[in-house]
Amino acid sequence: MLPYNTFGLDVQAEYFAEARTADDLRHILRQAPKPWLILGGGSNIVFARDVPGTVIKNSLRGIHPAGESADTLRLKVGAGEVWHHLVQHCVANDLGGLENLSLIPGTVGAAPIQNIGAYGVELKDSLVEVEALDLDDLDAPLRTFSREDCRFGYRDSIFKREAKGRYCITAVTFALSRSGHHRLNTSYGDIQRTLADMQVQSPSIADISRAVVRIRSSKLPDPAVLGNCGSFFKNPEVERSVLERVQSTHPQAPHYDLPDGRVKIPAGWLIEQCGWKGKRMGNVGSYEKQALVLVNHGGATGDEVWALAQAIMNSVAARFGIQLEPEVNVYR
Ligand code: FAD
Ligand code: NAP
Repeated sequence: MLPYNTFGLDVQAEYFAEARTADDLRHILRQAPKPWLILGGGSNIVFARDVPGTVIKNSLRGIHPAGESADTLRLKVGAGEVWHHLVQHCVANDLGGLENLSLIPGTVGAAPIQNIGAYGVELKDSLVEVEALDLDDLDAPLRTFSREDCRFGYRDSIFKREAKGRYCITAVTFALSRSGHHRLNTSYGDIQRTLADMQVQSPSIADISRAVVRIRSSKLPDPAVLGNCGSFFKNPEVERSVLERVQSTHPQAPHYDLPDGRVKIPAGWLIEQCGWKGKRMGNVGSYEKQALVLVNHGGATGDEVWALAQAIMNSVAARFGIQLEPEVNVYR
């Protein structure tokens, strides 16, 4: 599985197949030994052991118009399309909605699984519906999930909970805004600072995408050089009383108000306060520029990654009384 996971974990799959169409997918599944694991770009999965049964790489491609109105254009996109290719397609056609999500690795079909998000924008903001094959009933017609059906939350959806492992997403439909009808989101400080550095005063959709690409390229490790899965943990969303307890010892603790009255505390800050930033444990470590990203310094095993993740979770819990939750899918 080495070429198929961005953490660079060298595990074996018992069987492996690649599906390019929905029919192909059904055909493969009718013969493939179970259990089945549907894989996209492997950028949000940590293989802590060999994989029994069959890994099926989803390579269903295609970006097709699927309706329009005066201010929006709908696109139906194959689940195996590379996410950033879709973003580039939208930016090139002056379609707004996905520009803050530029350069996120992985495929379109995996994006709804954790409702990918960055710089104040989430997938759910542009998503219309998800089409999926029911893995328990290969003869049934493809099922359509509306945005409400997907029960999106912060880096969360029905596909990570009740429907975990039950469906293979085959396509996702988006509603993108035509440029004159689009409200850009520049709420994150890094975007504002980068646009200022780029001397852009009235940003376009393409400017936001360029700014995000510039920030991400300077701040995040390139998986081709240093294996990683992006943010390893979710940012904890806690009651205000928890923040007040943290502030009693750390008055400068960063935090962001949530609509429901709770607050989000950046997990990267909590991990950094516990002394993990840039630290190494065997072949794995916390990235020197962003403590929330765990990296493979070469030859790491899944056990090493999980041991580091647990050590970090334990020290954050001991120091702040906050239980971190992995954002990545750990295959154990
Ligand atoms: P995979 O890792 O292949 O799969 C992830 C999970 O989804 C697995 O459980 C898999 O079984 C399941 N799955 C995949 N495809 C399908 C399908 N078609 N149907 C059903 N199940 C499926 N995430 C963010 O939200 N925001 C970010 O800003 C961000 N930045 C990142 C930066 C870096 C450098 C890296 C390495 C990762 C980052 N991520 C980010 C995480 C990751 O890129 C996203 O979660 C992405 O959507 C994963 O896509 P993938 O195709 O690689 O999924
Ligand atoms: P950052 O800008 O240094 O900010 C640290 C954290 O504070 C972020 O996680 C973000 O939460 C939160 N934050 C910052 N400004 C905010 C604002 N104006 N309003 C609300 N919350 C705010 O973070 P970063 O590490 O460089 O990442 C930048 C963005 O890319 C973030 O949105 C992050 O989620 C995303 N990203 C995600 C991954 C991943 O694998 N999931 C990897 C890299 C980057 P949120 O995370 O909730 O936005």
